[in-house]
Amino acid sequence: MNIAACIKQVPATESKIRPSTDGKDIDRTGLSYVVNPYDEFGVEEGLKIKEQLGDGSVTAISIGGEKVAEALRTCLAVGSDQAIHIQDDAIEGSDGHAIARILAAALKKSDYDIIFFGRQAIDDDSGAIGIHVADLMGLPHVAGINKLEIIPDEKRAVANRQIEGATEVIEISLPAIFTCQKGLNEPRYASLPGIMKAKQKPMTVLSLSDLEISADSVDSSKAKTTVIKIESPPARSAGIIIEGSPSEAVAELIRLLREEAKVL
Ligand SMILES: Cc1cc2nc3c(=O)[nH]c(=O)nc-3n(C[C@H](O)[C@H](O)[C@H](O)COP(=O)(O)OP(=O)(O)OC[C@H]3O[C@@H](n4cnc5c(N)ncnc54)[C@H](O)[C@@H]3O)c2cc1C
Repeated sequence: MNIAACIKQVPATESKIRPSTDGKDIDRTGLSYVVNPYDEFGVEEGLKIKEQLGDGSVTAISIGGEKVAEALRTCLAVGSDQAIHIQDDAIEGSDGHAIARILAAALKKSDYDIIFFGRQAIDDDSGAIGIHVADLMGLPHVAGINKLEIIPDEKRAVANRQIEGATEVIEISLPAIFTCQKGLNEPRYASLPGIMKAKQKPMTVLSLSDLEISADSVDSSKAKTTVIKIESPPARSAGIIIEGSPSEAVAELIRLLREEAKVL
């Protein structure tokens, strides 16, 4: 199986996010970055399928600036066979539609049987790119999978997704796109030998012209969506600490809920 996992580098979950001074992006000063956690599920599932079948290849693919190479090296260190880094100054200002077009063009360069995306990127949270790429490539997809079984001889797969109060089981023909949900697997950590080996693994850098995409077709003037503002949520008012013995504190809590919050 030829497997691709599209991964986004995102600010680490513990980062304190503040809007930038122009209010249109986040302030990236001092942020540390990780592979989007939902995308790690895609990489891990690719590795598991390759191990189960005893054959195949896993390619990690990402769009972004120079720093994104670190995220791709992490994917190589856990076992991916190669990486593709799409880097081009013209991508600065591209919206989600352009990002999907660029990924679709890169994915079309190879005959992938299975393409994984995260369910969502935890920074911009659109939850759109995988499904958008499936549409652009004319491939079937299942969104938010938490279990996957591959039937390689029949070029079929069976995927589970959690719906309200039940599990939906879907059969799909390959090639196909899956977006990964929590519960699909437990991503492995990179071992020291894995980190050393990653340095020797191939990382191909592609520009927009390598993908036959013109820079002016993905610039901000062609964007179908525009971020107008990013703002912090309103500051929360300070909490109240109720002093006294437990019985006094309970009595005071009930009074406050009744007289001030008016919820009782
Ligand atoms: C260099 C760069 C500059 C950008 N500039 C702008 C801008 O100026 N204005 C603007 O509106 N938007 C811009 N974008 C697009 C925007 O930041 C989001 O990346 C885009 O809208 C996708 O939304 P999302 O991240 O919420 O992805 P989701 O739809 O939530 O992501 C779903 C999945 O898609 C995959 N994916 C998402 N992004 C990437 C990626 N970069 N590489 C590989 N896989 C990916 C991952 O598997 C992810 O889990 C830019 C993006 C990049 C990479």
